[in-house]
Amino acid sequence: QLSWSKGGGQAVPRLLAGGPNMKDDGQHMWRLKHFNRPVYCNVCETLLVGLRKQGLCCTFCKFTAHERCARRAPLSCISTYAKSRKDTSAQSHVWVKGGCEASKCDKCQKKIKSFQSLTGLHCVWCHLKIHEECQPSVPPTCDCGALRDHILPPSAIYPVVLVSASPRAAPLATRSRFLLSFPLSPALQIIPVPDTHPLLVFVNPKSGGKQGERVLRKFQYLLNPRQVYNLMKGGPAPGLNFFRDVPDFRILVCGGDGTVGWILDAIDKANLPRRPPVAVLPLGTGNDLARCLRWGGGYDGENLRKILKDMESSSLLPMDRWLVQVTPENPAEKGDPVPYEIINNYFSIGVDASIAHRFHLMREKYPEKFNSRMKNKLWYFEFATSETIFATCKKLKEYLTIECCGQPLDLSGALSGVAVLNIPSMHGGSNLWGETKKPLGEARNVGGGSQPQAVTDPETLKTCVQDLSDRRLEVVGLEGVIEMGQIYTGLKSAGKRLAKCSEITTLKCLPMQIDGEPWMQPPCTIRITHKNQAPMLLAPPPRSSSFFGIKKGPHES
Ligand SMILES: [Zn+2]
Ligand SMILES: [Zn+2]
Ligand SMILES: [Zn+2]
Ligand SMILES: [Zn+2]
Repeated sequence: QLSWSKGGGQAVPRLLAGGPNMKDDGQHMWRLKHFNRPVYCNVCETLLVGLRKQGLCCTFCKFTAHERCARRAPLSCISTYAKSRKDTSAQSHVWVKGGCEASKCDKCQKKIKSFQSLTGLHCVWCHLKIHEECQPSVPPTCDCGALRDHILPPSAIYPVVLVSASPRAAPLATRSRFLLSFPLSPALQIIPVPDTHPLLVFVNPKSGGKQGERVLRKFQYLLNPRQVYNLMKGGPAPGLNFFRDVPDFRILVCGGDGTVGWILDAIDKANLPRRPPVAVLPLGTGNDLARCLRWGGGYDGENLRKILKDMESSSLLPMDRWLVQVTPENPAEKGDPVPYEIINNYFSIGVDASIAHRFHLMREKYPEKFNSRMKNKLWYFEFATSETIFATCKKLKEYLTIECCGQPLDLSGALSGVAVLNIPSMHGGSNLWGETKKPLGEARNVGGGSQPQAVTDPETLKTCVQDLSDRRLEVVGLEGVIEMGQIYTGLKSAGKRLAKCSEITTLKCLPMQIDGEPWMQPPCTIRITHKNQAPMLLAPPPRSSSFFGIKKGPHES
């Protein structure tokens, strides 16, 4: 968000945009930035001074200028695509002066000292930093550096018109699709560098406070800005269409679990020739899915290059996704709308959903009281121990029947809630099923066969491992509000295991929730059936170093 407009004229700063919102190459993407170190203007080469030490910095190439100098800045920003087929032979380094403070030269390994002037050169693609005097001895070809597996260099993106004039012409259908999708920008097509996995990044800038916008900008610098999409500008469809025919592309979703669900739905609908694997950079709090995939509970400013390197050593994990069909008993009776059609994480009825519903209403009313994971857990405890919630759900078994794969489930005992789990984490890390003994990703399709049987025998259930790829759901009975409070705050780890099954029918319902979104549901029948499996990327296990600095784990190098 820039308030800078006094310069006027041709130097009006462009708002942050990604992918199809970018028009022509060459223009810098200015951002007003405060510096806590001496920085020199790329235009007049004098110090950026003043009380606030602020200046304009280009998000794409880090060209930096006084506000008064920006209008004289050359239109020298990066090229994001090849304008002619001659450009596509080899990528050369694109050097920009400055931005090398306190770095070592990647050519001669000596420190790049600043003599109170614009010092050193950095390449906007491979991010090498060198002395100006070392430039002649650096080979001109740029391989895009350490992140080359993820980067689409400009030489990999062609205008469609030029491609169609070549023997490798794009099919007409492809061309018309791009022309329809991007009426305002040149129609482009990707021909990636062989043996790379170009990354398509979706950022939800509304997730995680200012973190979302920072992550968006950083990826626009680390990768080709045409790989990075702001979900608030046109959603996921433009990015998925642009990457449609790229073999081996991967997706990184930066946002909460809800954002991941949104992207998985969009992939379902896009009908791509191959379903791309999805990694998650969790923004905000909650993030049960990201936690289960080892990407953590919330991004906290870690180095994004490291996260991209972790993606290279991640493994594929197919994740079950479940379709929920709600048929109301009386179609005229109006309840809240059902929030999702698909369960990625969990579904619950009764005490847990009721607590979540109250939590949801309170958070809408007082958002400032619900801004950290610890506070949220305490609120859950507060709600969980309240008498009114207990009263609502006390006689749950009188209103509810559950059938698993045709067998009715025994709901005897003092049940006040039932949770149906796909992943081993709920409400920011609580595990209702209990300890997973085998590491995630090893147990597959327990019992074998394509039609898994329901497991309801209590002895067998004790040894069942929760698995998000086994085409089954875990059903857990929740006894009461006190127990829920203990589970949320980590005093107790699990509810009562009822079944491991692949289909559920319930009757006459109450407060419910899907993936953390609660609602009140009038009497109805709910069918939960397996929809599909989405390939997800499971982060490498955290490296634990032992004596002698030897690193454990399957991903040692
Ligand atoms: Zn620039
Ligand atoms: Zn200047
Ligand atoms: Zn380079
Ligand atoms: Zn050097």
